[in-house]
Amino acid sequence: MAKKQTAGRDHLGKLAPQFAQLNDDVLFGEVWSREERLSARDRSLITIAALFSAGQYPQLKSHLILGKEHGITKQEAVETITQLAFYCGWPKAWSAFPLIQEVYGEEESPTDGVPSNLSVFPVGQPNTAYAQYFIGQSYLAPVSTEQVPVFNVTFEPGCRNNWHIHHAKSGGGQMLICVSGRGWYQEWGREARELHPGDVVNIPAGVKHWHGAASDSWFQHLAVEVPGEGARAEWCEPVTEEEYVKLN
Ligand code: MN
Repeated sequence: MAKKQTAGRDHLGKLAPQFAQLNDDVLFGEVWSREERLSARDRSLITIAALFSAGQYPQLKSHLILGKEHGITKQEAVETITQLAFYCGWPKAWSAFPLIQEVYGEEESPTDGVPSNLSVFPVGQPNTAYAQYFIGQSYLAPVSTEQVPVFNVTFEPGCRNNWHIHHAKSGGGQMLICVSGRGWYQEWGREARELHPGDVVNIPAGVKHWHGAASDSWFQHLAVEVPGEGARAEWCEPVTEEEYVKLN
């Protein structure tokens, strides 16, 4: 969501009240906020490009801050300036990179490198608790911790979990609701099924299986833990490189 702007009134309300009103109510209130036409993140990217091109560094810094609020990552900001350098001039990039440093700081985020526009669900944190049962990097975000637990699982390209079984005395099992990218689901002894956003996988309790990303695509699914008596997961062997390569 584009943030409601008061910058015009805050800074220029006294000197140029009509400019301030046009800035806050028309430019931001009516144009920036028309997100059904162009997202706030995209509007930030084109505005950053325009200000960079014009060499408007104080304004560029303000829009790097706004772009960060609209979901642009440090890595994406660096990539943007790197490309723009070819079109607008090398020295401008030298002036712009320090602004990115000021806005984002030195700190590396644990989710640096994860595309910011995968889906509407959060990426969460690196999935360290289960990392031993995964090949590649995955991320886990709780979507619901009440009633029925739901987690958003993000897999980097090539990442998949080991063969595993969701056990339960009654009920139990797992549902996967795919929300982004391309991935795979396979039950033991069966052909793998290719997964796309909107696909739903119903995994009965007791069935040995694995799920994960395609080798060339990020992948996200919601994992719904179906309540069951004595529900627990049993983790087995990894999906071998040979089996996995055959799919992709
Ligand atoms: Mn599973």
